[in-house]
Amino acid sequence: MIGHEGKPVPVTNWSLRYENVAPRWEGLREALCTLGNGYFATRGAAPESRADGMHYPGTYIAGCFNQLETVIAGRTTENESLVNAPNWLCLTFAAGDGPWLGLEGVEVLEDCQDLDLRRGVLTRRRLVRDNLGHLTRITHRRFVHMGSAHLAALEMTITPQWPGRLRICSELDGTVTNSGVPRYRELASRHLVPIKTGCPAPDSMLLVVETSQSHIRIAEAARTRVFRDGTWPAGEGTVAEQPGRIGREFAIDVAAGQTVVVEKTVAIATSRDRAVSDAGAAAVAWLEGAGSFDELLRQHVLAWEQLWARCPVELAGAEDDRVLPVVRLHMFHLLQTIGPHSVGLDVGVPARGLHGEAYRGHVFWDELFVLPVLNLRLPEVSRSLLEYRYYRLPAARRAAAEAGHVGAMYPWQSGSDGTEQSALVHLNPQSGRWLADTTYLQRHVGLAVAHNVWQYHQCTGDLDFLARYGAEIILEVARFFASLAAYDRGLDRYVIRGVVGPDEFHTGYPESPGAGIDNNAYTNVMTAWLLTRTTGVLDVLPEHRRGELTQTLGLTATELERWEHISRRMFVPFHGNGIISQFEGYEKLEELDWEDYYARYGNIRRLDRILEAEGDSPNRYQVSKQADVLMLFYLLPPRELGTLLRRLGYSWSPDRVPGTINYYLARTSNGSALSTVVHSWVLARVSREQAFDEFIDALRSDVADVQGGTTAEGIHLAAMAGTIDVLQRCFAGVETHGDMLRLDPYWPQRLGILKLGITYRGHTVTVTVADHTVHVGSGPGRLAPLRVGCHGQVRELSNGQTVEFRL
Ligand code: BGC
Repeated sequence: MIGHEGKPVPVTNWSLRYENVAPRWEGLREALCTLGNGYFATRGAAPESRADGMHYPGTYIAGCFNQLETVIAGRTTENESLVNAPNWLCLTFAAGDGPWLGLEGVEVLEDCQDLDLRRGVLTRRRLVRDNLGHLTRITHRRFVHMGSAHLAALEMTITPQWPGRLRICSELDGTVTNSGVPRYRELASRHLVPIKTGCPAPDSMLLVVETSQSHIRIAEAARTRVFRDGTWPAGEGTVAEQPGRIGREFAIDVAAGQTVVVEKTVAIATSRDRAVSDAGAAAVAWLEGAGSFDELLRQHVLAWEQLWARCPVELAGAEDDRVLPVVRLHMFHLLQTIGPHSVGLDVGVPARGLHGEAYRGHVFWDELFVLPVLNLRLPEVSRSLLEYRYYRLPAARRAAAEAGHVGAMYPWQSGSDGTEQSALVHLNPQSGRWLADTTYLQRHVGLAVAHNVWQYHQCTGDLDFLARYGAEIILEVARFFASLAAYDRGLDRYVIRGVVGPDEFHTGYPESPGAGIDNNAYTNVMTAWLLTRTTGVLDVLPEHRRGELTQTLGLTATELERWEHISRRMFVPFHGNGIISQFEGYEKLEELDWEDYYARYGNIRRLDRILEAEGDSPNRYQVSKQADVLMLFYLLPPRELGTLLRRLGYSWSPDRVPGTINYYLARTSNGSALSTVVHSWVLARVSREQAFDEFIDALRSDVADVQGGTTAEGIHLAAMAGTIDVLQRCFAGVETHGDMLRLDPYWPQRLGILKLGITYRGHTVTVTVADHTVHVGSGPGRLAPLRVGCHGQVRELSNGQTVEFRL
């Protein structure tokens, strides 16, 4: 069920395992076998590999961006990218005078790769033969340390089936470029400037580079030791240096069947790090303090054990036994991208993880799908991610002012400093044409930021955050949307014109492509939601802070009255039998002949590219890339949406929901991995069977690479997190309102029994959901009891107790 078009989906309980998989899936494997710890991550590429079109050994340090200029299609574009840091993996061997593994002349006879999700260890076993007939077994084990953010280690065990001279080469390579995404190949890609190489100790080497524009120093220090029978016979080897690259080569004599173990320990530091004045010195100090491979591994495994204990998820008796491993894989990649080490790094949620270069490492609205998972497990991480937005409030204010507005306009694509990083042109690989890109008109990203702040507060009760940072974000975003909303006399309503909604296919009307569309329902309703929310936000603030903020922001009664008015008079387009229109005029666009397109193209998720290549445009059709109107059902519980729409003066009842869902399901191509997550969610209350099918589809997004090649360029982090959230908040119905933990399950029987661990108001809570019962337990402690509600019943839950609800 989870497999897709013959692609291997080799999940077992706690692992992802590939055996002799066709080389064409190498990129997918590398992305899915990425190891990271929130501070940095390295793709699961073979240590001997180089970027060669099939392999791509990328390493990405969170928040490490650099800008480069390129002239494309006659205009100069500036692109900020998450930088591919020096490749620390480089480790290879050669038998006698034979070729190095990784170069021409060495054949891989057996290959088995195993990613241990519980311990965060990647093991690769291979049997290789060179063109001189040397047969050698090698096993690599590696990890990126979950306990010590700056460390990683790689071990290579070599068992030659021949006697002779064994040569080993270990390098740090800073001559790498950002060239992981074929579509970006015309863009400038050399971000690193060599600064120095050297040998801080007889067995180590140091490489320091600097990013060309942001001037971030990146230092990698490595220690390589070659062991035979517990001794260290190869000594320190010989060093080779060139600008941006340093290596050590070792040579020892081996007997057939004798085992040689090479340990490579690496420390990474940058000038962005806290408590660092010299990145090179910091990396060397980290390395000096690092123990042996086995010692580091023990601490690393312990850190993972503790992390999993904070984020447990179990499914017993699910119809498809691959559901749980895939959910775990998603949690694993989430925690590797954003975890305890992210706190204080001043980083946001990179849409494609730290797993590849798609979208250049940018931060979109995707935290909307990620924070709900973190809020209930690692709230300190959520807070840090929201602080990333807070520190970019000045940039958002400047952007609003430059656009002729007030308040804060967050960028659609954010990177280092919070300025807009969306590309102004993009390549359609299907037609080979560079096209103007106005998807930056997705102003709705600010609504997501504000929504996330409010949700975080709801979940955690963290008033300190709201008072210091969160309220200011909410008020400034509200101010921006109120200024974006213009009063239309004819309609006697407020309208928002010239934007792009979550569905990026429509960047304008057919006659004015790129100019944005009017009254995107999602944007307008969420604007009303936000403006309604502002009073509540001000109300919960401590009085002195409310006073301060009102003064600092110059909030006046007149402004608040205008917000109130807009929140009652925002325009929402409808058509047909009470269907919310995606935007004004959507329903007047032509219908697409879907069957014809499926028949001609098969995979039509990226209909925009197909249509453009045909000389046509999605702007002409009722087609959506992803959930847009349906996002409203996703974010707002039915009662809240109903209240909001009625407050706006529209008649609305829940019986409109199924028709609206069906209307958009039939017109959405799922060109974004987020779409199936949202569809699964909104269908849960309408058709559990369909919801289940969409959920399975969402699970397949990356593990089966359903978009055909995109996962190799980076995982879809929000979709991964979204599947966990579907289990938790949608199917199990875990919600936090006021000071109560509520459960309102719509549990698909086919998923068996769910056991989930979350943290709520300091309690370690275990939620067990089965077909007809819900159990909620709290771990030991002496906290004030929690209030837990389920289907109208409310219970008190003390530490050490479990309460049961019958459904
Ligand atoms: C989606 C956006 C998303 C972005 C990054 C795009 O394909 O349309 O909604 O934010 O990917 O994940």
